Amino acid sequence: MKQTAHAALRGGLVWTMGLLVAAYTIGLALPGGGLNPFVDRGLWMLTTWVQAAVCWLAVSRTGRRRWEVLLAAGAVTSLAAGNTYYVMVAGTGSPFPSVGDLGYLMFYPLMLAALVVAVRRRARGLASSIWLDSAVGSVGSAAVLAVVLSPVITIALRGSLSVATVVSLAYPMFDLALVAAVAGIVALGGVRVGTGWGVLGVGLTVYAASDVVYALQQVKGSYVFATPLDAGWAIALALIVVWVHRTASRDLPVPQDPPRGAGVTAMVVSAVATAAGLGVLLMSSQTRLSVLAVVLAGVTLLAAAGRTQLAYRQVARLADLRRQVATDDLTGLPNRRALYAEGSSRLLDPRRGSQALLLLDLDKFKEVNDSLGHHAGDLLLVQVGARLLDHLAAGHLLTRLGGDEFAILLDDVDREEAVTVAVTLRAALADPFALEGLSLHSSVSVGIALFPEDGADLSTLLRKADIAMYKAKASSAGHHIYSRDDDDGGTTRLRTVEELRIALERDQFVVHYQPKIDLGTGEVHSVEALLRWNHPSRGLLYPDAFLNLVEASGLMPAVTRMVLGAALDQASTWQARGEGLTIAVNLSASSLVDADLPEQVAAMLAARGLPSGVLQLEITEEFLMADRAQGQVILNRLRDSGVQISIDDFGTGYSSLSYLRELPIDEIKLDRSFIFPMIDDARAAALVASTISLAHSLGLRMVAEGVETAVAYDELKRLGCDQAQGYFICRPVPAVDLGRWLGARLAPDQPAAVPVQRSPSPLEQEASLMPPQVGA
Ligand code: C2E
Ligand code: CA
Ligand code: CA
Repeated sequence: MKQTAHAALRGGLVWTMGLLVAAYTIGLALPGGGLNPFVDRGLWMLTTWVQAAVCWLAVSRTGRRRWEVLLAAGAVTSLAAGNTYYVMVAGTGSPFPSVGDLGYLMFYPLMLAALVVAVRRRARGLASSIWLDSAVGSVGSAAVLAVVLSPVITIALRGSLSVATVVSLAYPMFDLALVAAVAGIVALGGVRVGTGWGVLGVGLTVYAASDVVYALQQVKGSYVFATPLDAGWAIALALIVVWVHRTASRDLPVPQDPPRGAGVTAMVVSAVATAAGLGVLLMSSQTRLSVLAVVLAGVTLLAAAGRTQLAYRQVARLADLRRQVATDDLTGLPNRRALYAEGSSRLLDPRRGSQALLLLDLDKFKEVNDSLGHHAGDLLLVQVGARLLDHLAAGHLLTRLGGDEFAILLDDVDREEAVTVAVTLRAALADPFALEGLSLHSSVSVGIALFPEDGADLSTLLRKADIAMYKAKASSAGHHIYSRDDDDGGTTRLRTVEELRIALERDQFVVHYQPKIDLGTGEVHSVEALLRWNHPSRGLLYPDAFLNLVEASGLMPAVTRMVLGAALDQASTWQARGEGLTIAVNLSASSLVDADLPEQVAAMLAARGLPSGVLQLEITEEFLMADRAQGQVILNRLRDSGVQISIDDFGTGYSSLSYLRELPIDEIKLDRSFIFPMIDDARAAALVASTISLAHSLGLRMVAEGVETAVAYDELKRLGCDQAQGYFICRPVPAVDLGRWLGARLAPDQPAAVPVQRSPSPLEQEASLMPPQVGA
C-alpha cells in the first residue's frame, strides 16, 4: 500500500513537472514573455526543484541498490542549486565565473557517473569487439563535435590561465564527454541502460545541443537572454528525470543475454564514426581546426584500426582452433573427429556416387612398440601415414583413428576399385621402413565396407569395416570385404530393428534432463532433454549405443516425435507448477527430410497450450550439410513460430563461419572437446575466450557443455560465457530428480549461485564409469 502511495506521489510530480516545463516554454515564446521575471526566473527555478524532488523520491524507493538513480538525482539537484544562486543572488549581470557555475558544472560529472554505473550493470559479458566499436563511436562523435565547437575552444584557449579560462573550457569539454557517452551507448545497441534508455539518450543530446548553440551564440555575441532556446535545458532535464522515474519504478532488470543484433548496431556506429573521423582529418587539411578535433579524429582512426585487427584475429583463431581439433598430433593427418565431420558430409552429399570405407590396422605393431620402444613406434606410424598418403590418389580422405589404425574414405569407387586400392596400399607398406638405422618390415590388414550397401552412415560403416578387418587379420588374407555373415559374432550388438519398434511401442525410451545454468546469476532457466533406452535385458542404454541404429532403420522421425512429446508433457507439468523452464530437444540431421516438422511442432505445442518459447531445438552443423537450402527453410519456419534454435557441438563441423550470420539461431553450444583442455592449456582457454566473444559479437548466446570441474566453471564465468552444462553442475537425471535438485538449490540455506552436486544414483554411476569423451 505504502509503495502505491509513493508511486502515485511520484507520478503526480512528474505530471506537474511536465506542465511546468510546458508553461515555461510557452512563456518564453510569448512576445516579451521571456523578460517577465515570473517566467524566466520563477518558473525556471520552480521547474528545476520539482525535477530534483522527483529524483529524490525515486532515490527513497531504490536506496543504494541503484547508484545511477542516486547520481542522477545529485546531478539534477546540483543544477537546480546553481540555477537558484543565479536567480536569487547573482542576477543577469553576474561576474563570470561564479558559485552558480560550480552547480552547473557538477551536473556533468555526476550525470556521466550515472551513465557509467547504468551501462556497467547492463553490459556485463559483452564482447570486447563491441566495446571497441563503442569506443570508436564515442571518440568519432567527439571529434565531430570538437569541429563544431572549434571557435568556442579557440577563444577559451586564448585567455591567460585563470579560473575563468578553465571554466569556459570546461563547458565544451563536458559536452564532448556527454555526446561521446551517448554515442558510445548507442553503439552498444540493444543494451538498455535501465528502462526507457531512449528517453535518456534524447534528453542528454538535447542538453548538449542547447549548450553548444548557446556557446556558439555567445562567441558571436548573438545570444539573447530568455528566448525559447533556454527552454532546451528544461526539456532536456525533464526527459532525464522521466528516465530516473521509470528506472526507479521497475525492479532491477534481469541480466539479459547480449541482445540479438547488438553487434550490427555497434558496427554501423563505428563505421559511421570512422568515416566522420576521416572527414575531420580531410577537413583539417583545408581549414584550420582545433588541435583537439584533429587529435580526436586521429584517435578514432587508430581505434578503428585496432577494431579491424581484433576482428581479423578472432576469425583466424577460430580457423586455427578448427584445424587443431581435427588434426592428429603425431602424423599431421586428419583425425577421427575429422573423419566423422568430413566423412559424414561426404556420405550425405547426393552428388557423390558409391564410396568405400577402408579400415587399416598394422600387424604386430605392439611388438614394434614393445621391443624398440614407443619412440620407434611413433616414427613408424609417421612413416606409414606418409607412405599411405603418397600412394593414394587425390580426393580420398585419409585419417588416423588412433593407435595403429588408419581409415580411408574412398570417393566414387565400386567394389573392385576399392579392393584394388587396398591391394596397392598393402603392397606399398610391404617395402621396408628405415627406422633409426634398422630396416623394418611391416604389414597391414584392411577391412572394407561399402556405401551405401553396408550402411547409411559413418558409424555403421566403421563398425562393419572393423568386423571385416578382424576377419582379414584372422584369415591373414590381407583384406576382406564385409559381408552379412561376418556379423554373427557380434552377439552383444543390437541388430534387430524389431527391438527398436518394440521399444517405441512399450515406452522403453525415457527422457532424462540436464540443466543449463546461467553463469551470471546461477539460475537455471533451461534444461536439455536426453534420450535413454530402458532396455529389458541390458539395462539403461545411452544414445551412443543405439542412435545409429535408429537412424539407419528409418525410425528417427518416430523417436524424435516421442522425445518431443515427452519433453513437452514435462514442460506442461513444470509450467503448471510455475516453473517456467525452457526445454531443449536434439534434432538429428535426418529430421531435415521431414518438411512438415514445423507444423508437427506447432501442433504439439498447441495441443498442450504451451507458448512456443518453451521449446528449444538443438541441431548440429551436419543438419545443414545435406541440403542447405531445405535446412534453412525448415529452420526459418521453426524460428518464425517462436521456437529457439541452438547449434550443438559447435566447432566440430566443417561448414564455413558465415553460416552463423545467415542462420536464424539464438545460441551456440561449444563442444565439450574445447572445454576439457582449457583448464591446463592456456592456448585452449584463449581459443574458448575468442569463440565466446565471436558469438557475442554476432548477438548469440554461448553455452559451454561438458563442464566437469569447478575450475572450468569459474574460468568460463570469468570469460563471460553465458551458460554452462555439465557433470559438475548436474548429470542428466529423470525429471523427478531434477525437480528435487532444483528445489534443493532454492532452499534458503543454499547460496543460489553455487552449483549443488548430488551423489549419483546407481543409474548415473554407470555413466560416471564411462571415460570422459575427449576428442580422439
Ligand atoms: P549432446 O547433444 O552433445 O548431449 C550432451 C551429451 O553430453 C550427453 O550425452 C550428456 O550426458 C553428456 N554430458 C553432459 N555433461 C557432461 C560432462 O560434464 N562431461 C561429459 N563427458 N559428458 C557430459 P548423452 O546423453 O550420452 O547423449 C549423447 C548424444 O546423443 C547427444 O549429444 C545427442 O547428440 C544425442 N542425443 C541424445 N538424446 C537425443 C534425442 O532425443 N534425439 C537425438 N536426435 N539425439 C539425441
Ligand atoms: Ca544437444
Ligand atoms: Ca553437444
